[in-house]
Amino acid sequence: MAAIYEAKGRPRFNPLISHVADLAAAERIAVFDDRARKLAAAFWPGPLTLVLPVRPDGVVCDLARAGLDTVAVRVPAHPLARALLSGFGGPVVAPSANRSGRPSPTTYADAVEETGDKAAAALDGGPCEVGLESTVVALLDQPRLLRPGAVTREAIEALIGPLAEAEADAKRSPGRLARHYAPQSPVRLDAAEPATGEAYLAFGPHPEGPGVWNLSPRGDLAEAAAHLFAHLRAADRTGPKAIAVAPIPEAGLGEAINDRLRRAAGFVG
Ligand code: AMP
Ligand code: MG
Repeated sequence: MAAIYEAKGRPRFNPLISHVADLAAAERIAVFDDRARKLAAAFWPGPLTLVLPVRPDGVVCDLARAGLDTVAVRVPAHPLARALLSGFGGPVVAPSANRSGRPSPTTYADAVEETGDKAAAALDGGPCEVGLESTVVALLDQPRLLRPGAVTREAIEALIGPLAEAEADAKRSPGRLARHYAPQSPVRLDAAEPATGEAYLAFGPHPEGPGVWNLSPRGDLAEAAAHLFAHLRAADRTGPKAIAVAPIPEAGLGEAINDRLRRAAGFVG
């Protein structure tokens, strides 16, 4: 467990998500209420993480929870993850394979580039379909959106009502670091066009070419999410003066994409 924090250079106050094979396994480590069961039924297996009170007899250790009395749990959908989890039988903590603060890897090659030298083995399950980290919802007092993701705010609110923002208290919402997912180059947002010396991530009709990557030529948010980190990393490798990014609409998946982009640019407090 300590080796995961070490390999990622992850601060120990930032807890990990426990991944399990199914709802029954999740209920062995966390205390579920009606809202939690409703969300699990709707979105598992899939990219939704629930932060719930930890079960005192659960097996997730203090270090994985950063000493909190809560636990983050999720049932992933990928067949390779599911095979691993049902083969192992218990919860598996599984953060992204990047060094802490860097853009998440979404392909085998990018994962190996980030943390491969620290890993005993690496499995290739193909490129990520969603391409963004899971949505994180805390169900402790009022439901709170700790991290937007592929399961949209709108879809969750339709089932359990309005989501409050994450608490400013860093101990309760430890993952909200200002600069995160960040490439080496500075990131400039809402750019209609690149300036000289800048790389460009376009969205919507715009030709690709040297220094220009298109997140989704047809302006599709799911496609843009799937390409986001790989394109950020590709642009960064060319060592531009900055990476300029086209405006992305804030609705639906756009909330999660813009959250990652603002953190990549270092704008979120
Ligand atoms: P990552 O594994 O890098 O995708 O990050 C997992 C996210 O879940 C981070 O934002 C963590 O801070 C958050 N998280 C994990 N466990 C808890 C918890 N018990 N309470 C609040 N947030 C959590
Ligand atoms: Mg991560």
